[in-house]
Amino acid sequence: MQECGRINALVHERVRQNLMIGISTRELDDIAHRAIREFGAQSSIRHPLSFPGDISISVNEEIGHGVPGPYELRAGDLVKVDISIEFRGVHTDSAVTHVMGSADPSSIRLVQTTRDALFSGISRAVPGGRCSDISAAIDDAVRQGGVRIVRHASGHGIGAELHEEPTIVNFGPPNLGPRLREGMVLAIEPVTSAGSRFAKQRPNGWTDVTVDGSASAHFEHTVAVTKDGPQVLTTLPGVSNQGMTEEATFVEGPQRDDGLSFRGMRPEEEGQLLRMAAREMDPILMEAWGRRVNPAEIFHDDGWTLVAEGENGEILGFVVVMEQNNALHVNTLVVDQKSQGRGIGSAAMLRCEAIARSRRLGSITLCVQTNNERAIRFYHRLGYQDSRPVHPNSILMRKNLAQDE
Ligand code: MG
Repeated sequence: MQECGRINALVHERVRQNLMIGISTRELDDIAHRAIREFGAQSSIRHPLSFPGDISISVNEEIGHGVPGPYELRAGDLVKVDISIEFRGVHTDSAVTHVMGSADPSSIRLVQTTRDALFSGISRAVPGGRCSDISAAIDDAVRQGGVRIVRHASGHGIGAELHEEPTIVNFGPPNLGPRLREGMVLAIEPVTSAGSRFAKQRPNGWTDVTVDGSASAHFEHTVAVTKDGPQVLTTLPGVSNQGMTEEATFVEGPQRDDGLSFRGMRPEEEGQLLRMAAREMDPILMEAWGRRVNPAEIFHDDGWTLVAEGENGEILGFVVVMEQNNALHVNTLVVDQKSQGRGIGSAAMLRCEAIARSRRLGSITLCVQTNNERAIRFYHRLGYQDSRPVHPNSILMRKNLAQDE
């Protein structure tokens, strides 16, 4: 279940990397679908439950079981990504609420309260306690935050099945229900509303919404009860701030512009992108790293590649980034010749900035060859400053993000 939980967190991470204003929830589901397959897992809801998606994505007043579709994310949206996967016969379940761009203060309070309530509940998942200790801790935290629990939604045991006993409601007094024992694994999941605590189902037969249309938030982790205390399984060990699933993310996506969108690279596209790089990257530019670069090196093992896609699915360019020293480092930015002058480079850099901010990184960095004045001017315009020479013929440029926090 640890391994299943780690994969669950990796899929969340992949979805988060692709969150942007203008992306459709169906595209996000496609991205999750590929990631789940890539990690050797499968969706716990698509086949067994016939849910029309690999993951559920619920926006604003949607409480849960949001069906991926054509809806394109907008600034201010609360986006609840709920991922249930099976890996080698066991399941994990985890959800996070992302805030797209600048949400109003009441939405932000709703999201932060719900996240705090989850951790308050998790802290009571200890041997010897009772199930409703978790319920009461969540209830208290939600009341203190001045929002409401949606009573319709509950946590649950999890393991060989996605939903097992016991049910863990998110309200009520402590010291009731089954005893918690070492080895139990629970999906703990407060679901809240800024208005009514009552829900109704959409005609699609899946999606639950608040009856009064008020915003809803949802956070969930799969947690093991151990003698050393609660162990959160759906997280990434070693990642700063304990992995994305514990943080509400505030995504500032660039607006999608005339059909331009960004998504993760598909493995089968590597050859095509390499050919584009070899064509577009001036051999001189390819020395920007201080030596002539073998194009195959641009797909760094520790990095990830975002592909800029046009309206008809054609690839317009790509950017390869990696995280290092509390910065997002842009290894390579390539725009196809036919698409230059359309602002794709700027859009890609803004997208990188959004990723860096959502990962709470202090800056974004890149290397440019000192005699590439055009590129240096371009990055200056975007707010980058010369930082330090890294090689005899190239400099590191940096844009600090911390001062905007
Ligand atoms: Mg669940």
